[in-house]
Amino acid sequence: MDDAAPQKPDPDDIDVTPITPTARVQSPTHGGRAKCLQRLVRLDLPVPRTVALSFRTVHRIAAGRLPDIDALLAEFNPGALLCVRPSSEDPDWGGPGAVLNVGMNAAVLERLSAQIGVDAAHRLYLRFVQGYAIHVARLDPDVFEEIDAETPVTGLRTALAAYEEEAEEPFPDSPAVQLAAVLRSMARAWEGTSARLLRQGKGAPADAGLGLVVQEMALGLGPGECGSGVLQLVNPQTGLPQITGRYLSQSQGRDALRQGAGSLYLERDPRGPSLEELAPAAFAELLRHADLMRRRLRAEMQIEFTIENGRLHILDGIVVPMTSRAAVRTAVRLAEDGIITREEAILRVEPRALSELLHRQVAPDARRDTIGRGVAASPGAATGRIVFTAADAQALAARDEPCILVRRETSPEDVRGMHAAVAVLTEKGGMTSHAAVIGRGLGLPCVVGAGRMRFHPRRRMLVSEDGRTFQEGDAITVDGTSGTVLAGAPPMVEAMLDDSFRTLMSWADAARDIDIRANADTPADAQTARNFDAGGIGLCRTEHMFFEPGRLTVMREMIFAETAADRRAALEQLLPMQRDDFVQLFRIMTGLPVCIRLFDPPLHEFLPTDRAGLRDLAEALSLPVSDVTRRVENMGEYNPMLGMRGVRLGVTVPEIYDMQARAIFEATLEASRDGAPVVPEVMIPLVSTPREVEIVKTRIDAVAAAVRVEHGRDFTYRLGVMVETPRACLLADRIAQHAHFLSFGTNDLTQMTYGLSRDDAGRFMSDYVSQHVFDEDPFHVLDTEGVGALLKIGLARGREGRPGITASICGEHGGNPESIAFCRAAGFDYVSCSPFRVPVARLAAAQLAI
Ligand code: PEP
Ligand code: MG
Repeated sequence: MDDAAPQKPDPDDIDVTPITPTARVQSPTHGGRAKCLQRLVRLDLPVPRTVALSFRTVHRIAAGRLPDIDALLAEFNPGALLCVRPSSEDPDWGGPGAVLNVGMNAAVLERLSAQIGVDAAHRLYLRFVQGYAIHVARLDPDVFEEIDAETPVTGLRTALAAYEEEAEEPFPDSPAVQLAAVLRSMARAWEGTSARLLRQGKGAPADAGLGLVVQEMALGLGPGECGSGVLQLVNPQTGLPQITGRYLSQSQGRDALRQGAGSLYLERDPRGPSLEELAPAAFAELLRHADLMRRRLRAEMQIEFTIENGRLHILDGIVVPMTSRAAVRTAVRLAEDGIITREEAILRVEPRALSELLHRQVAPDARRDTIGRGVAASPGAATGRIVFTAADAQALAARDEPCILVRRETSPEDVRGMHAAVAVLTEKGGMTSHAAVIGRGLGLPCVVGAGRMRFHPRRRMLVSEDGRTFQEGDAITVDGTSGTVLAGAPPMVEAMLDDSFRTLMSWADAARDIDIRANADTPADAQTARNFDAGGIGLCRTEHMFFEPGRLTVMREMIFAETAADRRAALEQLLPMQRDDFVQLFRIMTGLPVCIRLFDPPLHEFLPTDRAGLRDLAEALSLPVSDVTRRVENMGEYNPMLGMRGVRLGVTVPEIYDMQARAIFEATLEASRDGAPVVPEVMIPLVSTPREVEIVKTRIDAVAAAVRVEHGRDFTYRLGVMVETPRACLLADRIAQHAHFLSFGTNDLTQMTYGLSRDDAGRFMSDYVSQHVFDEDPFHVLDTEGVGALLKIGLARGREGRPGITASICGEHGGNPESIAFCRAAGFDYVSCSPFRVPVARLAAAQLAI
């Protein structure tokens, strides 16, 4: 083809479609608003005449190719005023503001003055000139916004003169010229770079299109009852059925929603006249239409309407924007009313939004004075006084004063302080750092890695990102949902677990096909897991049981024991404590599996880090502080996460696992007394070779045999292996031969696959994500390419070695919807996550199965 030849006009390029019940109007070509208006037309609602312009048409307009404007005008009543509105595929992507009263000129002014009164007609014209000047001609808004609309006759004169002066041409009189300019300016506004970046930030694709709808205006001003408003049948905050909205006499567009607009109430109200009193027939009709829209559009809809001399016009409908709690109630009620199916109700709630229901949150409309940002490590929000030590947190909690524990990072010594605090803020750390894991387990709001704030624990001072100083005792708010720190105490909304929530979750459980267990370390966690209907405990990190007051010192005595006999003596003290915990866990989880992991963390983590800790330990061991300090230094490791931890302790200091196995088996016998026999699951961490499993298994079997003989009673148990090193994935076939189940620890596996410290990655993670080195924090969302490849190899080889072996994921990824999708597709039997994430995981799993 000759390049220079003129292109043949493509008739599809210009698509100006009057909205009729049968017109070809679709969301992906004309936008959601156009499609919704067509549905309203099909329902035979009183919608003013409307014409839709497709995405392609609007794109052409932006490039300078206009449709036939005279033909477009001919679709409407002669001399009618028009309104032009944006229609993008997803209303959340925004778009240019609507322009009202297009077509206004001297002749229309004269006609309307006779029809609706001089003042009202001038008001319409003035409004048009103001909107046109600012949004279409892009003149200085200050000049036009100042003009007084209360004196519309002089106001209009001023506005027209100002237009002529600023634009250096008279205000256009021709409706065709006006409409063409409005269409062109809206089309171009959509294609501008800042608008594109803004909507891409909301998830719109780079080439998202804009449609436009041109609608004949219902005026809302004039004699009789005239006005405009919005109405919906649901309270958008609570989701409870309630007629809500605003109405303002003698107004148009969304005037009624403007603050201080002095709107009237919709229903009879002692505070003032209501629409129901002013225009009872129109109000009754509006309610009928609202109900019809709810049933036929299968959603709670917000209706934009105008009353013109008592006559109702429906201009538009959008799905009511609501809070998460309202979304849950609405989905369930629509399903219970038979409007949508249960499956649709499940699909309509965003799993992550459930976290908002499980915790207190900063009120959505609260003013936020943000002083710092970090990783949103554990959801929910809490306000309290700043404290810098665990001891101070406990002291304040004892006086019933809520406090926020602010630390550079947390260690086992801080756990008591974390229990006492209402929220935690740390300078360092990422999604799987100590503070994050414990915070999620406790349901405690937590922001970690807020490295752009400055932490001065010695000076008891915290400096915000913008340089403001906060002292110990000052009130701040940690918002672990958004990962922000706020000054002061913004208003909050309470957690809500009502019947709708439970109903939705029961529907989700019926739909899903992958099990969800909880990571629960203490009886309190187990109770939370049970309350959230977890299918069992997938990971009990037993070391967390040693963080309680009293136990830590015994634990340290055990670590410092010089002989096996001394070590056994300390372990004997720990044995009854562990046994009691396990009995409680088994009882709380009656009928459900409980998987207990043997001691995993580096012993290094249990060493005292400050003088007070060293002194306490010296006292307990009756040794001079200097001796204890030396031994602490000797036991320190350069790289504790790759050092003396997990099964390596089981092999080299076997007394610890012996004690834990005994505690588990004695608790098994104890808890089996009251009912069905308990079958505990015992799990070995950080394995990298089959021989480790053999050695530990032999000892555990021996402990089991001894307990059976001593108690004269039998029991069974299931032995499992945590696959969390790359080598364990590669050797999973041989490892599986010694195990009943394999549980993949994706936290350590991610750490070791990337060679990335889970405790330090928070420092640069935001840079890595913002520069697209990583799509997401891999400790948060499973890296399906790299870590995922190892998981698949491990799973396949494990099942080769032992067909049908139970396989699961118990890293923090277990609560992440994208990661659950991967696990389900790969064929894992269950995922295990923090108790507070169990509902999110249950819903996400159900959505995958639908
Ligand atoms: C893991 O590594 O994924 C895991 C669950 O164990 P932890 O987080 O306790 O190391
Ligand atoms: Mg691990």
